[in-house]
Amino acid sequence: MRKKIIAANWKMNLTHTEAESYFATFLSEIGQVVNDLEIVIIPAFTAIPALISASEKMPILRIGAQNMHWEKSGAFTGEVSAAMLRALYVKYVIVGHSERRTLFGETDEIVNRKVAAALEAGLRPIFCVGETLQERDGGQVEEVLRRQLSKGLAGVAQKDLLEIVVAYEPCWAIGTGRSATPAEAQQSHSFIRTVLSELFGSPAAERIRIQYGGSVKPENAEDLMRQKDIDGALVGGASLDPRSFAGIIWRTEAALA
Ligand code: PEP
Repeated sequence: MRKKIIAANWKMNLTHTEAESYFATFLSEIGQVVNDLEIVIIPAFTAIPALISASEKMPILRIGAQNMHWEKSGAFTGEVSAAMLRALYVKYVIVGHSERRTLFGETDEIVNRKVAAALEAGLRPIFCVGETLQERDGGQVEEVLRRQLSKGLAGVAQKDLLEIVVAYEPCWAIGTGRSATPAEAQQSHSFIRTVLSELFGSPAAERIRIQYGGSVKPENAEDLMRQKDIDGALVGGASLDPRSFAGIIWRTEAALA
């Protein structure tokens, strides 16, 4: 049984004081969540300390980071290391988000170094993969996913695989309001599990969690979360409103019922 994981990627939004008031509203909206879910909030670096202390009020909540450098320390102006995040009690870090790949030139090799560095430091990578619209239209979905998975996870030991959460995020669905249909998403998730099974063996592939990301909102969350190979959601835009993020969590609970 894979525990569903619902994560909020706030991107470059919300100051630390805005994060505190978000959290107060979120806490009152969310009330009593049954314990079969994991909830992660992934703010900008500056809001991490405030949210770490706020999260003590909600034991199933984890705090993540949106990025990190793969080196341990050194002359890398503007960067943050995995150890710095661990020292703040951060649990998860997003690696390979399509915005990092397209806007900041992150290659599969860079993503792979970050995955390795995160694991070495005891952080759990939320490792994002997904095709562009052009690649989908060109019939390359499987080829792209296979490449991103095999290169991004190269060298990962089988015992470490379950520390990783894979996020399938088709680029054409991110921030566009156009989500993949539950059937489209399920098809890609099932393919991802097949590739993981080839790379790491079937028992590990059956246990690893694969989140869907791309225009998830309360209205479409339940149908997506009912799919056999969808183990949670990585939510961008809709997570900026604490009521709508709480709504996604409630719809996920409904899908589990
Ligand atoms: C994301 O950026 O990870 C994402 C899924 O964004 P949105 O929910 O806004 O499509």
